[in-house]
Amino acid sequence: MTLYPATTNIGKFAEFKAAAHLEGVDIERLPGIDDMPEPYESASTFMGNAEIKARAYSSLAPGLLVLADDSGLEIEALGGAPGVHSARFADFRCFEPNAGYKDIRNNLCILSLLDALPNPSRAARFVCALALARDGEVLLRSEGTVEGEILDAPRGTAGFGYDPLFLLPSLGLTAAQIPKDQKWQLSHRGHAFRSLLAQLHQANF
Ligand code: IMP
Repeated sequence: MTLYPATTNIGKFAEFKAAAHLEGVDIERLPGIDDMPEPYESASTFMGNAEIKARAYSSLAPGLLVLADDSGLEIEALGGAPGVHSARFADFRCFEPNAGYKDIRNNLCILSLLDALPNPSRAARFVCALALARDGEVLLRSEGTVEGEILDAPRGTAGFGYDPLFLLPSLGLTAAQIPKDQKWQLSHRGHAFRSLLAQLHQANF
């Protein structure tokens, strides 16, 4: 069986491909994705946005099983922010919009918002929602989370996004201090993907 991720992000695509291979599923590039219009992610939840992408891309790729994801960070003391705004949170809440240094600006933004609070909880979680669709219809959904804490300074150089600030308390390391395959075992995306594949193996597509 072959799944077609609705992403032009090469890193994400490679993560899915490597993991799927271990589970006996193929991952291929969605034909024509570079020319497909990106849908507006208007939902207020990760799953809502994953479904929007799954429906939009699968209706442009007749007959193919299209896998769409949406993910981000939720910080308890910030009322669940950055949430669905994770990718561009600094532009949204802290600074003038700017194309460069996205991850650094996002990390500075959450630290400055936490600094402004008296004794904030540092509890946070990464969330990943996946939706699998064919011909514009969502067939399967799954969600994965990983719990952690936001440090007051970055640690580690691996990973991306908020990884250097995200402490995995059971390991005493941030998500930027562990190897890729270990991150995949623990991560929100890994959990969501394994759960989707378990459903897929039960289904009759
Ligand atoms: P998207 O799922 O590509 O829209 O990603 C949303 C944003 O959430 C990313 O740009 C990152 O800032 C953040 N994010 C999602 N997953 C991770 C992760 O595994 N580590 C660090 N940041 C993440």
